[in-house]
Amino acid sequence: MIRQVLYSLFKKPATNLYPAQKLEMPKGYRGKLVFYPEKCIGCKMCMKDCPTGAITINKIAEKKFEAVIDLGKCIYCAQCVDSCIKKALEVTKDVTLAQLDDKKLKVVFGSDSENNRTEKQAP
Ligand code: SF4
Ligand code: SF4
Repeated sequence: MIRQVLYSLFKKPATNLYPAQKLEMPKGYRGKLVFYPEKCIGCKMCMKDCPTGAITINKIAEKKFEAVIDLGKCIYCAQCVDSCIKKALEVTKDVTLAQLDDKKLKVVFGSDSENNRTEKQAP
């Protein structure tokens, strides 16, 4: 018993001191989605296959699309990524998604007039 107590006192903790220590997620981890508007052709296969209705693709101009993703509804299954033949969606290892205001979980991924990728909260 004493041996076990001493061992536990000096061994490295099994948990991480998050958020003080950054988490390194394993390869293949399915975290926050990113959308590449320049690759999207607006076929909406991602929308059709999403089991929770978390993703919406909107046409914003000729051959220009934005993705509205509700990170609160998303179950991070990556079905939309698999369904996208143009590789316009990708999962990242980003897990820092908690918000006090649930409106902040609705994110619009699009592009600005210079075709730079943008990410903003839905109105
Ligand atoms: S499946 Fe891919 S190309 Fe089709 S609408 Fe979705 S993101 Fe765009
Ligand atoms: S990861 Fe799954 S739940 Fe989230 S938007 Fe894609 S298909 Fe829908």
